[in-house]
Amino acid sequence: MKTPEKFHMSSEQQPQFSKGIDLLHNPALNKGTAFSEKERELLGLKGLLPPRISTIEDQEIRILENYRKQSNDLEKYVYLMSLQDRNEVLFYYLLMNHIEEMMPIVYTPTVGKACQEYGHIFRRPRGIFISIENRDEVADILRNWPDKDIRIIVVTDGERILGLGDLGANGMGIPVGKLNLYTACAGIPPSMCLPVTLDVGTDNGKLLKDPLYIGSHHRRIRGNEYDELLDEFMEAVSEVFPKAVIQFEDFGNANAYRLLQKYKDKYCTFNDDIQGTAAVSLAGLLSSLRITGGKLSDQKVLFLGAGTAGIGIGDLIVRALVKDGFAEDQARKRCWFFDSKGLLNSDRKDIQVHQRIFAHHHLPIGSFKDAVKSIRPTAIIGVSGQPGLFTKDVIQTMAEINERPIIFALSNPTSRSECTAEQTYKWSDGRAIFASGSPFEEVQFEENTFHPGQGNNAYIFPGVGLGLIVSGAERVADNVFYVAAKKMAELVSDEDLERGAIFPSITDIRGVSFEIGTSVMESVNGLSENLPSEISEKISSFMYEPQYMELLI
Ligand code: NAD
Repeated sequence: MKTPEKFHMSSEQQPQFSKGIDLLHNPALNKGTAFSEKERELLGLKGLLPPRISTIEDQEIRILENYRKQSNDLEKYVYLMSLQDRNEVLFYYLLMNHIEEMMPIVYTPTVGKACQEYGHIFRRPRGIFISIENRDEVADILRNWPDKDIRIIVVTDGERILGLGDLGANGMGIPVGKLNLYTACAGIPPSMCLPVTLDVGTDNGKLLKDPLYIGSHHRRIRGNEYDELLDEFMEAVSEVFPKAVIQFEDFGNANAYRLLQKYKDKYCTFNDDIQGTAAVSLAGLLSSLRITGGKLSDQKVLFLGAGTAGIGIGDLIVRALVKDGFAEDQARKRCWFFDSKGLLNSDRKDIQVHQRIFAHHHLPIGSFKDAVKSIRPTAIIGVSGQPGLFTKDVIQTMAEINERPIIFALSNPTSRSECTAEQTYKWSDGRAIFASGSPFEEVQFEENTFHPGQGNNAYIFPGVGLGLIVSGAERVADNVFYVAAKKMAELVSDEDLERGAIFPSITDIRGVSFEIGTSVMESVNGLSENLPSEISEKISSFMYEPQYMELLI
């Protein structure tokens, strides 16, 4: 029998990280059964692992087998999160190789369920929790985070989680999920990502009564105290992580707009619900026009929902029209809004400043179907968080007015969608161009198979973040989202359009993020600073690949 080779390590070769069982418990370095014989001997792992050495491909087969055996999506979520807690490289390897299958688990719709159940499925903390009680110690708390070169923070206060309302500190599932996508879709190294939840209480009575709820058991604190915490947080981030981009996510509508206006010229920050959603929707609209043959300036868009997402999309459509040479007030008249109180018209006294620019002269209308009949839109966009409001009548009316009606039902999760893909194709005789917020299966209608597009912000924010980080942007200009939307629409192929898909395939998402990152960097730095080839090179060399690191060099 061959005597196994003995390995020796000089003092300079001694690793700077923990060895033995502690190494197996370090998710950033753990390779599980893939540790080599040499590593096992020199890093005190002998006997702590089964003898057979696996490749990452072997590990992928094992994980997939177990993952697919889980009996429901929430269990799949828990399984994947536990994998991330044990072996980060393997987690991202799986997520990137199976993005279409796993994105609906780590993100919408399953993440919504996970947030609702967070206290009950909780295993191990991830990210930073900052409570309102932590006033004056936010910077110290941020310094507790082990990684020091943070480049992207996703922060929520949990007030409007997807379309599910106030989930308080349980909202942590959202920053965690979004950052998973930053790494999987745009290659932002996991050590540069930080999820943050600001726990200011919750007005969700069910959670307040739940002894397993993970947040502070009091009602939501608002007003000055809330604002002071937010100010302290933004200042503390710029002190502790000066290179970080801060993405606001799932804040309630009363705060989302206000905070964006307050911070966007002072910090490197954006709000994904407003600006990311706007970019993906504009991209969808521009691709739809390649099918209908219309121009953006000929469109009339009627929104169901005049909240964070809806007004953000309206603003970006206006920006795009102004770029095309339209006067701003004319451009605004292409966008109409209908909310829980009816049509937004100039007589309404109950609307906020940022909504007012879209409140046009019109008689009051209380039913959405009547609004469709009166406004005669070419596109309707659902961002109400209320399911089923695109009724058969509404869709049939759209199909009477338009040869190819554009219908986007963007509310998340799937249970909140304004209509399903199947209903839309059926009720419009297969003529509608459809996109949803959460994924729908392909639909067979008469002789045709339709591939509904998912207006998923994941097409936009990872690439935008990538471009901002690599370019070293100090602020996030509104133009960045226009650039991202235009680029994304260009990436939709004619074959995609023929299949009825107005977005690129989700399996191409890394390429999409790369292209968006490149365009964003060009718009931030200007081509005078870098040649296009240099920008591409900088972006691609920055992007993380899930490969095991050689621990013995
Ligand atoms: P929000 O709370 O800011 O706004 C909701 C709007 O819907 C409000 O204007 C409200 O008046 C209106 N509304 C509520 N009930 C209504 C009814 N019965 N009839 C007409 N209008 C009604 O929420 P938001 O941030 O704008 O998000 C709304 C939805 O959009 C959520 O479900 C969210 O998940 C979804 N969304 C999807 C994407 C995406 O797919 N890319 C991105 C962002 C938000």
